[in-house]
Amino acid sequence: MNKSDRNLGMGTDISRRDFLNGCKLAVGASLLPGAVLAQDSYIAAQDVPNYYPPEFTGMRGSHSGSFETAHQARDGASFNGSDNGERYDLVVVGAGISGLSAAHFYQQARGANSKILILENHDDFGGHAKRNEFQIDSNNVIGYGGSMLLEAPGYYPAIAKKLLEDLGIETQRFYRYFDQDFYSSMGLYKGEGTFFDAETFGVDHLAVGDWSDPSILAQAPLSTKARGDLQRLFKDERHYLPEMPASEQSDYLQKMDYRSYLKNHAAMDEGVLDVMQSYARGVWAVAIDALPARIAWSSGYPGFGNLDLGFESYDREGDQEEPSIFHFPDGNASVARLLVRKMIPAVAIGDTMEDIVTSRFDYSQLDEPNSPIKIRLNSTVVSVQHIDDNLSNPVKITYVRDGKTHVIESNQVIMACYNQMIPHLCPEMPRAQKSALANCIRAPLVYTNVLLRNWHSFVNLGIHRAYCPGSYHHRVMLDYPVSLGDYQFSKSPNEPIVAHLTRAPGESGSSARDQFAAGKRDLLVTTFETFERNIRDQLSRLLGPGGFNPAQDIAAITVNRWPHGYAYGYDPDTDQVAFDPDSWPAEKRVWVNGSRRFGNISIASSDSASNAMAEAAIGEAHRAVNDLN
Ligand SMILES: Cc1cc2nc3c(=O)[nH]c(=O)nc-3n(C[C@H](O)[C@H](O)[C@H](O)COP(=O)(O)OP(=O)(O)OC[C@H]3O[C@@H](n4cnc5c(N)ncnc54)[C@H](O)[C@@H]3O)c2cc1C
Repeated sequence: MNKSDRNLGMGTDISRRDFLNGCKLAVGASLLPGAVLAQDSYIAAQDVPNYYPPEFTGMRGSHSGSFETAHQARDGASFNGSDNGERYDLVVVGAGISGLSAAHFYQQARGANSKILILENHDDFGGHAKRNEFQIDSNNVIGYGGSMLLEAPGYYPAIAKKLLEDLGIETQRFYRYFDQDFYSSMGLYKGEGTFFDAETFGVDHLAVGDWSDPSILAQAPLSTKARGDLQRLFKDERHYLPEMPASEQSDYLQKMDYRSYLKNHAAMDEGVLDVMQSYARGVWAVAIDALPARIAWSSGYPGFGNLDLGFESYDREGDQEEPSIFHFPDGNASVARLLVRKMIPAVAIGDTMEDIVTSRFDYSQLDEPNSPIKIRLNSTVVSVQHIDDNLSNPVKITYVRDGKTHVIESNQVIMACYNQMIPHLCPEMPRAQKSALANCIRAPLVYTNVLLRNWHSFVNLGIHRAYCPGSYHHRVMLDYPVSLGDYQFSKSPNEPIVAHLTRAPGESGSSARDQFAAGKRDLLVTTFETFERNIRDQLSRLLGPGGFNPAQDIAAITVNRWPHGYAYGYDPDTDQVAFDPDSWPAEKRVWVNGSRRFGNISIASSDSASNAMAEAAIGEAHRAVNDLN
């Protein structure tokens, strides 16, 4: 190992247990990726005592073993298995928020005795609503590996509000649980610090404070012009289309990317464009050179002053009145867990939104023979077809688990997986529907959780989060200060804490769709070791001046990679991605056209709304259940 790796702490004995050594099993030699062979009998991994995937660390999200079979199906492989005799009223493909909600709504509509099976290709349920747990000393530290919070639940559609109510989630309580003043009370800057990296800007430098304040950027590695331009941009006093008739501005900005707007209309220096390049990645998963300027305007990004495009924006008109506080320590994984506990009560004791947080689930209860609802993990669906040409007949579902192909039958099926995959699973669908489904795309993202033994370096630097425009992860932040039920957030810098890092992996310089495709490829070939080296390097350069030592301070790393992340629609005629689906004309709404019921198969998932939010996933689940009536 070279000196630099040694200083970074590569090879340190951190917790990065994957399934094979993370399951704490006494069996060993006969262990397969998703199951064990104990003597001659097959035991599914989820039925092995102490199987508890939230504790697995290392490469999570779409972990190894979860996607390979699906990719074979996509590439035309055929799978032959025998009918194992199982019969259901409903099979749901995918145990994300949408699939779990669909099972819940179906049970509500058809009665508690409905026989429902949910098949999921990952080793845990929840999809993007992913829980990461860490053990350190006697502490259990909880993080979110995907879907982070309920955004503005006061504005949720009635169906989603009702579901939260049914699950016992009273959102007003978060005002008590989320300590909004905590980091400022520690003397830390309330906004983001900015880390200028040497590779992009010439020298490593951390600037802490508001960019519109000249003293904050005085030492930043930017030219005098770039500093002045950045300050002008963030004062945000005017827009740069004064000559254009108001009636033309919206269309014009829709066709132009935000980078070009900043460059050609706001006359921003190249250095400013470098600073801004990753500004939108966390929210939209693309660099600003592929983000329509109109979306930048509606997101409240700077450079538009008082420009009025004639419709309400997300942030400009003050319509987003609720703060971003509706966060469980494991993000929306708590919503998924509440759904599962409601449908399969034997999985965990408790009945409140508070006790779900520290509740340890017994995974062996998920697929119990006597339970009307079952969740079968590590099971990739490779084919969903009616048993014959009569579309009112039952549906045959083929899935692969631990290398073995199984065939089952169900009266009805809800596809709550990735819509783009459905044409490969349901080849009998009409051509136009398959083509629409194929144009539902997803943007890749990475949510990394780094367990730190303490957070003195953050305090010494006066920050709790940082924007890192040129670095591997574009944002770094300390966990949200949320205490719920028996769970307490880290209140002292002496205590361990999760630092949350985000990365949108697409290359700049191409269209949004191409950035997504490149990012997906990148995620599937990048090793955990590469992630780890980049994480250690970035944190040591960002936090080193505050006393951070990556070899000592990092206790565990979990990388949640999501090659199939945010849901978007795509229009091949214009090469446009539906960042603003509501404004698209009906004939271009591939997500609606693709999601129509086909015989006894209906289609849910956030893809069906081209809207990567929990309320959309829930709403589409409800619609898919109604479609089957
Ligand atoms: C990193 C990240 C952060 C996010 N943050 C937020 C947030 O803060 N708030 C918010 O509201 N939304 C957030 N979202 C959006 C999130 O996508 C939705 O809120 C919601 O969780 C999507 O649920 P879903 O069921 O539609 O999709 P998914 O969560 O993707 O679930 C689909 C499931 O189907 C499974 N599947 C796919 N193919 C097969 C197959 N062939 N066989 C079996 N199973 C299959 C998948 O493995 C997956 O588990 C975030 C998304 C990401 C990626």
